[in-house]
Amino acid sequence: MTTRHNNIRADIGRLWASLMRSAEIGTTPKGGLKRLALSADDGVMRREFVEWCEAAGCKVEIDPIGNIFAFRPGTDPTAKPVLVGSHLDTQIKGGRFDGILGVLAGLELVRTLNDHGIQTRHPVALVNWTNEEGARFEPPMIGSGVFTGGKALDFALSRTDKDGITLGQALGEIGFQGKAKINADMFDSLFELHIEQGPRLDDAKIQVGIVTGAFGVRGFVVEVTGETGHVGPTPMAKRHNALVGAAHVTLAVEEIGWSEAQNHGKSTTMRVKVEPNLLGILPDFVEMTCDFRHPEEPSVIKMMDAFKARIPELEERSRCRIAVKEGWAYGGMRFDADCVDLVRDAAQKAGYSTLDLLTEAGHDAMHVAEVLPAAMIFTPCEGGLSHNEAENVSLADIEPGVNVLLQAVLARAGAV
Ligand SMILES: [Zn+2]
Repeated sequence: MTTRHNNIRADIGRLWASLMRSAEIGTTPKGGLKRLALSADDGVMRREFVEWCEAAGCKVEIDPIGNIFAFRPGTDPTAKPVLVGSHLDTQIKGGRFDGILGVLAGLELVRTLNDHGIQTRHPVALVNWTNEEGARFEPPMIGSGVFTGGKALDFALSRTDKDGITLGQALGEIGFQGKAKINADMFDSLFELHIEQGPRLDDAKIQVGIVTGAFGVRGFVVEVTGETGHVGPTPMAKRHNALVGAAHVTLAVEEIGWSEAQNHGKSTTMRVKVEPNLLGILPDFVEMTCDFRHPEEPSVIKMMDAFKARIPELEERSRCRIAVKEGWAYGGMRFDADCVDLVRDAAQKAGYSTLDLLTEAGHDAMHVAEVLPAAMIFTPCEGGLSHNEAENVSLADIEPGVNVLLQAVLARAGAV
């Protein structure tokens, strides 16, 4: 690569203008975003993104799960595209930058290459993954899951939101169920830029996070079954209160998290559904959702095993039946060493301060890393706050990460 290419910088003001236009679509009263996957607002954002991509000379294609791909041609017809992107959907009380920064930084990358008349050997392809957040349709990261083949298309399209609308219907309503046959084999690699969503970079005033891999994650649903009865006359010794079982489960999950806290292990009980959830009635059923995370995959497996081993004791103490019903696992992987090196080289050449870290949140790039060389770059975010309407970054926070993305992708795609 020539020095000319090493010196080019993204137009951060232009990127900021795109981010602020996005921030007008689905704005919440507190200045955050509620742009749930495949909502009307998501449709508006998607159409605007497609227009921007086409205006930048890209050919846009939509796959059957609604992932948007925008292709900027390369010079070598045999070279596969380098993918760059993230997600434009948000949480219910989400921020303006989570995911959005990664998609619009990709767009800015293409616009910058256009400004400088730079061609690349590999095409560069932008991507907006469908339903990353999982706030409307569960599970999260479903668009990238279908892309990699990890999730079946029929399964994904049949997911329902709280009103019973399927993901497939919602895609149809906003006009984003495409026909393009696109799969991971067609691509060279993926680069995803994202805000850190934690405080490490911001606290240490470090400019660029080099994400080398991901925490191992185990999510699981626990069902606690007891027996209903009147809360008055039923003697203490004859109660089978499922909510008491759930309390024991919650404490056991918490204790297992603390037992690995010195090694950065974490545990959460995040959701509880209680039946019948009425005054005067002993609850007979609780469904709860829990989560273990650990930097080391073998350790997260141990946390899960430790929980299962405690179930007989929790059942005895609560006089309820406790069963682990569903589980899911992701993360625990390391990103592609070559792609990570390109990120590191780009940061070093630009003189940015860097920190190697693992992502503790789920990201589409983690799915994609199962089938393609991939890397992630983190920018600092104010106070490490995200999934919050007050989520914020400054231009100075994002400029280094955006330029590292630009240079790493240019190196991978081969500027000519
Ligand atoms: Zn995100």
